[in-house]
Amino acid sequence: MYKSKSLGKNTFYFYEHTLSSNAFRRFTLESDLKNAIQNQQLSLHYQPKVCSKDGVIMSAEALIRWQHPVLGFISPAEFIPIAEQTGQIISIGNWVIREASKMAVKWCEYASFNNVAVNVSAIQLAQDDFIEQTIITLKKAGCNPSYIEIEQTESALMDNMQDNIEVLKRLKQAGFTLSLDDFGTAYSSLSQLSQLPIDILKIDKSFVDNCATCEKAHMVVKTIIQLAANLNMKTIAEGVEDKEQLAILNSEGCFMYQGYFYSKPLPVEEFEKLLAQQIRHVS
Ligand code: C2E
Ligand code: CA
Ligand code: CA
Repeated sequence: MYKSKSLGKNTFYFYEHTLSSNAFRRFTLESDLKNAIQNQQLSLHYQPKVCSKDGVIMSAEALIRWQHPVLGFISPAEFIPIAEQTGQIISIGNWVIREASKMAVKWCEYASFNNVAVNVSAIQLAQDDFIEQTIITLKKAGCNPSYIEIEQTESALMDNMQDNIEVLKRLKQAGFTLSLDDFGTAYSSLSQLSQLPIDILKIDKSFVDNCATCEKAHMVVKTIIQLAANLNMKTIAEGVEDKEQLAILNSEGCFMYQGYFYSKPLPVEEFEKLLAQQIRHVS
């Protein structure tokens, strides 16, 4: 049933032996996810987002991690879709915002640090009380909305464009920074893009990967950066892994980057060490 559902509506799929182990894993994850917050198995890692010109850490993206007691590390790419299908993403997403906002309050004391970015699922955004609940959560942590950046994927946003625009406008009014994740992988039209109250376009890793070795990929990156500038948006490149890619991005005027070249996502303590080191370095 799950296999068939994952292929879309009104489909069928014949039973295969391998399915039973996949189905069993899914069943285990789905049922164990219910208690993962309570059992303190979830944590957030933070990946620095740095200024392309001088390498100063300006922000951090919160990325969720699940350490399962038996199955070990489970990738968010595997369990977030399950959480979305079961509705558990609401409580998990709220937990993410709660934890990230505590860190944002602390780290935004550094003058060069602007905000902490959280990934918000389209399911969360579609909840009538999403903004109210988020603001309540932030207030409890003493966190100003301007300390939080909300990342929405281009594909999720385009699925329900009109409703999503309204929510994004309200979030922007409330003071949040908004960014469009995985940009270039869905098919938003230029007219849709110009209507969005987005501050930052995140250039998808697939374009960054080849930008230093393939002229066409380079031109795509250049075009996205120019498009963003013309629409009054900033750009950040995702998944930068070497200095050649960074040199291209820098020469084309990409504002920020994140990726293994600078740092992998880090546990809180390690991220804080990196941030503190930098402050010492600057002063
Ligand atoms: P994403 O938001 O596009 O995050 C970027 C992913 O690329 C992360 O994978 C990050 O660890 C990885 N990455 C960053 N730099 C590099 C690099 O230089 N090279 C390579 N190969 N990978 C890099 P991760 O942490 O496994 O997250 C996967 C996806 O899961 C995220 O993609 C996001 O869509 C989702 N996700 C993660 N945390 C959350 C969350 O709290 N809520 C929601 N709704 N989704 C989340
Ligand atoms: Ca993201
Ligand atoms: Ca992304």
